[in-house]
Amino acid sequence: MKYDTYKYKETINDIKKNDKWDIEEHSRNVANAHPMILVVSSILLNVFSVYKTYDIIHENFYNNSYGVETRSRMASSYYGNILFIVVLNYCLVDLLSGVLHIVLDNPEFLNTPIISKLAYGFQQHHINTTLIVKMKLQDHIRPMSSVIILMSIIGFIIHGIENYKLYVYIITLSFYICLMQCSHRWSHMKEHNRGCIINQLQSLNVLLKPSEHLKHHTEPYVENFCIMNGAFNSMLNAITKLHPILHPHNKIWLPIFVCSFVLPIILIPL
Ligand SMILES: [Zn+2]
Ligand SMILES: [Zn+2]
Repeated sequence: MKYDTYKYKETINDIKKNDKWDIEEHSRNVANAHPMILVVSSILLNVFSVYKTYDIIHENFYNNSYGVETRSRMASSYYGNILFIVVLNYCLVDLLSGVLHIVLDNPEFLNTPIISKLAYGFQQHHINTTLIVKMKLQDHIRPMSSVIILMSIIGFIIHGIENYKLYVYIITLSFYICLMQCSHRWSHMKEHNRGCIINQLQSLNVLLKPSEHLKHHTEPYVENFCIMNGAFNSMLNAITKLHPILHPHNKIWLPIFVCSFVLPIILIPL
């Protein structure tokens, strides 16, 4: 399959021509797409998840007449599972960020319902890399509320409301996707604006290194898609070069993203 680079350039030029770079208008668009009710619900959902995690573990632990040995085994199992989800989701968010970024950087999705506006935003970012730093932080993080609500609904349908692993999954994924947004934003900031802690975390590869992300911002924008810490960049770069069907501008990445978003919600809390 051959990709029409001319058509791609035309689309980018259209974005360039049409955009007024209005921060206030962007703010209003974000608020319309992700209303305050979703933001409040996602925060309350996380507070509820912390309470339910404590409640489920506490109830199993103390409301049964287990011996000391059994309780100690249970404690290791609970804390082991929690730690596993905390670490796994940190890695998963980097991978998911890369796969979603591949989808939204695809000019073919600029006219696809539901995701067209997101795709426009991602592709606009290639042309104006300063907008991400200039826009309000809350506008950059706010879209994550919709992701948190969607992921939780899927989780509750599959696992019910008495699974502590699901709540740990919701809490950690919510935190990491917000951190991912910040990590991408920080990678575009000037070093002196980031502060020493962020600079240090970037140099340790805990957060996305600006030099690594800069490689993505070179036409035709088909490499280094991960925006959490970039750990999966090499792997995704290699996969997209394996076969023409896996080229970043192939629409196959949409079903791949849907599967990689839904499957962990099904599997990890099991
Ligand atoms: Zn991009
Ligand atoms: Zn960027």
